[in-house]
Amino acid sequence: MRTAEPYRIKMVEPLTMTTRAEREKAIADAGYNTFLLKSSVCYIDLLTDSGTNAMSDRQWSALMMGDEAYAGARSFDHLLEAVQEAYGLPYVVPTHQGRGAEHLISKILIKPGQYVAGNMYFTTTRVHQELAGATFVDVIRDEAHDPTRADIPFKGNIDLDKLQALIDDKGAENIAYVNLAVTVNMAGGQPVSMANIKAVSELCKRNGIILWSDATRLAENSWFIKEREEGYADTPCAEIVKEMLSYVDGLTMSGKKDALVNIGGFLAMRSEAILEEARGLVVVYEGMPTYGGLSGRDLEAMAVGLREALDDAYLEHRIGQVRYLGDQLKAAGVPIVEPVGGHAVFIDARAFLPHLSQDDFPAQALAAELFVESGVRSMERGIVSAGRDADGNNRHPALELVRLTIPRRVYTNAHMDVVADAVIELWKNRDAIRGLRFVHEAPTLRFFTSRFEPIPARSPLPEQAEEHPVGAVDVRP
Ligand SMILES: *Cc1c(COP(=O)(O)O)cnc(C)c1O
Repeated sequence: MRTAEPYRIKMVEPLTMTTRAEREKAIADAGYNTFLLKSSVCYIDLLTDSGTNAMSDRQWSALMMGDEAYAGARSFDHLLEAVQEAYGLPYVVPTHQGRGAEHLISKILIKPGQYVAGNMYFTTTRVHQELAGATFVDVIRDEAHDPTRADIPFKGNIDLDKLQALIDDKGAENIAYVNLAVTVNMAGGQPVSMANIKAVSELCKRNGIILWSDATRLAENSWFIKEREEGYADTPCAEIVKEMLSYVDGLTMSGKKDALVNIGGFLAMRSEAILEEARGLVVVYEGMPTYGGLSGRDLEAMAVGLREALDDAYLEHRIGQVRYLGDQLKAAGVPIVEPVGGHAVFIDARAFLPHLSQDDFPAQALAAELFVESGVRSMERGIVSAGRDADGNNRHPALELVRLTIPRRVYTNAHMDVVADAVIELWKNRDAIRGLRFVHEAPTLRFFTSRFEPIPARSPLPEQAEEHPVGAVDVRP
């Protein structure tokens, strides 16, 4: 039997459609960076699932109950109760969003010169680890870097041999902590199995290493465990999440994802010592330990949302909708990362645009073209997002992807049909898509604010090529 959204729509927000000419101008004005587009020109906005969630009637009601006291607000107690009950962790420190929590925990756990191991990097997470003096080491299983390995149910798993090798090589005392992301955003929203979480936890315990979770999409991860891992088919996701977290020492949370709010985040932990340090830092960087840069109403909405995200009917539809879009693209032959992950469909831009080199920023170019084609906003996850290494060279990640990220509870499957049609139309005309080059390169997290221009068509005649050089900045290695 087919299923529909497990909710009905109580409030609507009109969408606007632009002309192709308007979109061509808009993307040029935005420096061919979809992050720099105004949302008013985006018809279906799949830039991110971060903070773009639709809140429920219960969350909107909770918002009205916010206690805006500077200290000791009851809204904090509501968040604390929710985290204790739903996640099973005793202590919580709110922050303005996930990266606020990453900032604090990196400062607390890292001594300069140490290493942090994790299942693939995340942009803000790694920046905070590096700013605290650590070197990030990716210990995700190899298949996570291969978009064609559809046969791997838990592509987000940590490779225990890689982690053991790092411990042997650097010494356990030089590993600040292991950062376990569930699901793995940069691998395409790929899940981690319960067996892997347990095994990583045991390995960490044996070596006295702290295991921290980037729990941003833990609810979505729990659905994959229910669906794919033996023994969990009849376990409610709420229980699966509790078991997942029973193996970790603490977590950073971006409430903008699986707490179903528009802003917010937190740290949660078991250790009183870490709690004390976090409370000391949060007052410097975020706000009092009972609000951490958020208003009371934000805390209330997050307390309700993090529970709602653990509902099985919600998760079945959520993951199902992402898969619904992925299946249409796959059926048309569009190369996507398989299996489809939890929050987005990732187009393999290398396979889509084989005539471009990675230094022509194929994913950045494809995201710009998709916008011009349809008004659908997506984003690059490839060489631009990966940034430069310590020597100033471009990192060349194995994955060069365009991310179609599905906001939670926002769009219907009819919107997914429109997106699929637009991508398939581009796929038919892919040979005409040209690469991009930098006009302005931002120094950190460059994907957010850098500007680009199309690489001019190359002249076939060498003399003419001399007269019309391909650009002052040649970014090729
Ligand atoms: C979004 C995200 C973060 C950072 O959270 P913000 O709320 O955006 O600061 C950290 N890790 C992962 C995996 C994320 O997707």
